[in-house]
Amino acid sequence: MSEDAASETDVQTSEKLVELAKRRGYFFQSSGAYGGVGGFYTFGPQGAALKGNVEDAWRDRFAVAEGNMEIDAPTIMPEPVFEASGHLDTFDDMLVDCPECGESHRADHVVEDNTEYEDAESLPIPEVEEVIAEYELICPSCSAGLAGQAVETFNLMFATNIGPGDSDPGYMRPETAQGIFVEFPRLKEYARNQLPFGVTQIGRAYRNEISPRRSIIRTREFTQAELEYFIDPEEDDPDLESVADVDVTLYPAREQNTEGSSEIETTIGEAVEAGIIGDEWVAYFLGIAKPWYESVGVDMDRFRFRQHLSGERSHYAADCWDAEGKIDGNWIELAGFANRTDYDLSKHDEYSDDRFTIFRQYDEPKTVERATVDPDMSYLGPEFGGDAQTVVDELETLAERDRSAFDGETVEVELEGETHELPVEKTGFSVDEETIAGEHITPHVIEPSFGVDRLVYTVLHHAYREDEVAGEERTYLDLEPEVAPTFVGVFPLQSDEDLEAVADEIVADLRDAGLSVTYDDSGNIGRRYRRQDEVGTPFCVTVDYETIEEEETTVTVRERDTTDQKRLPVEDLDETLAEIRDGDLEFSDI
Ligand code: ATP
Repeated sequence: MSEDAASETDVQTSEKLVELAKRRGYFFQSSGAYGGVGGFYTFGPQGAALKGNVEDAWRDRFAVAEGNMEIDAPTIMPEPVFEASGHLDTFDDMLVDCPECGESHRADHVVEDNTEYEDAESLPIPEVEEVIAEYELICPSCSAGLAGQAVETFNLMFATNIGPGDSDPGYMRPETAQGIFVEFPRLKEYARNQLPFGVTQIGRAYRNEISPRRSIIRTREFTQAELEYFIDPEEDDPDLESVADVDVTLYPAREQNTEGSSEIETTIGEAVEAGIIGDEWVAYFLGIAKPWYESVGVDMDRFRFRQHLSGERSHYAADCWDAEGKIDGNWIELAGFANRTDYDLSKHDEYSDDRFTIFRQYDEPKTVERATVDPDMSYLGPEFGGDAQTVVDELETLAERDRSAFDGETVEVELEGETHELPVEKTGFSVDEETIAGEHITPHVIEPSFGVDRLVYTVLHHAYREDEVAGEERTYLDLEPEVAPTFVGVFPLQSDEDLEAVADEIVADLRDAGLSVTYDDSGNIGRRYRRQDEVGTPFCVTVDYETIEEEETTVTVRERDTTDQKRLPVEDLDETLAEIRDGDLEFSDI
């Protein structure tokens, strides 16, 4: 089986998490009033804030800190874009329908979940049909046999029409990347025609998944954060030194192909040196991704990079690794890192009217030999009539491609399948020296492609905790302060005008300091603490009678994870909490 057997406690965590997510406003299936629709989720107030914080953290690291540009392109694009990108022809999954209940399933998933095949997606359809029959695989929904059912391809793009009528078909983009590639001719201008440069985009992508499942892990509308990094493959090298010491858990293809083998613990530098990661640019981005995932709260004991098996990799991709997080005992893909070579830009160059190349200026101008022709038209005209220009074109192409063809007395040209011989002296063939400043090249693309929704799920799952406080069971989310939807909850101990007035002032001060604050005055204080624990608020501040009666105005500050409480002066509360949020101060050190 491709995935580890799910551990029971982990599955329970998922069930409890999905329930908590709905109850506390993280996420829930959308359009519930109309029965809900598979594969579409709404992020509630907590979820939208968490997702926004994760996106901001991604933007800080992959756009701002790397000096890359961010764009925001439309989500609907015209058909020619997807003809060029190959999505129209090949963005398919394998579909098998149950003969009993009619439910549709991903045939490759049915095979992978129930046999030793790890990469069923790369098998030809007839073979998948054979495996289904041979293993007597059954419908995951109703257990009816699937043997004998046809497996078909199903294109995952959502189609629409642009404007009235159907003459102008369009598609919801299945990845944000194409929005970057098609704008390359303009983006390169903004980068002053200098490689390397990177362009990021955070936005929605749409895939009509055959069987959306596991809440927000596989949906039909989701958010991607993608970076397309354009390089000159001959000139540009990554700053590998800066990530060489990053520790990583790797699951290389060769280990996956060896029985009983497992992940290896190494560093980015060692992995490149040993040839485990074949592409230095991919290695560089793995090196910055690993600490970033850790910073947003992914548990590093449940995180690895897995190399694509050769059949899994796109035909154009030179090396490809996925970031994977462990959920319910199964590894799920969180992001893909690929060297896409010049595939995307070459395709758009071929299909569109624009140029998807960049001018590579040489350090020094180069002198090159160029073979040219200058045919004698007074000879070609009478000899070839209306075809004379075609002969000229043929001679020019031949001179560029194979100058040895002009070595003899005569040269041969093909004209509508017929070979014609003409004297070389009539072609005006010559080889001249020319000085050139550079050449047009098609940049290669390195693509780190992150899924935001799966990451949000993983962060919540890895943060889910249960413990006992004062003899009572408690659930809390151990979220990193950087991504927690709310940083601090402020409560007046009781319903009392004086307490509420001080609490209001504290809320205003903390918000002025840029902290995200929630005010809660309903229910007893224990209930309020539990509520904030459950949504992962790192700190709570309680205004009590000591606050208003003592000379020095102090409040109780409680830390979520330890439930430790300290009395701190209100005067510099904003500064203290801001320092903690920024990682400059530990609560335990106060
Ligand atoms: P999978 O094999 O799981 O379908 P993929 O290899 O097709 O994923 P990519 O095309 O590499 O995914 O997309 C990049 C990222 O977008 C994935 O790593 C994942 O985090 C996210 N993603 C892809 N499809 C979905 C989906 N249906 N729902 C949620 N996130 C998705």
